[in-house]
Amino acid sequence: MSTTTMSPPIDFPLPAKWPGPSPRCKVCRALADQRATAAAAGDYSKVSDCNVELRQHASPHRRRRP
Ligand SMILES: [Zn+2]
Repeated sequence: MSTTTMSPPIDFPLPAKWPGPSPRCKVCRALADQRATAAAAGDYSKVSDCNVELRQHASPHRRRRP
């Protein structure tokens, strides 16, 4: 196992602006998954697309009590 000194493993602490997925919703989970994949690939425009979609999709979740 060799590591470069440049990039420590990224452990995703969700920044506050990243909307959290509802754990019981498949759509949320899929979007969060895509977002994590995009972030891992350094594709931040995709990350922000996913965030927009998640935010729009998930806002009704927050109004309804589970
Ligand atoms: Zn959802």
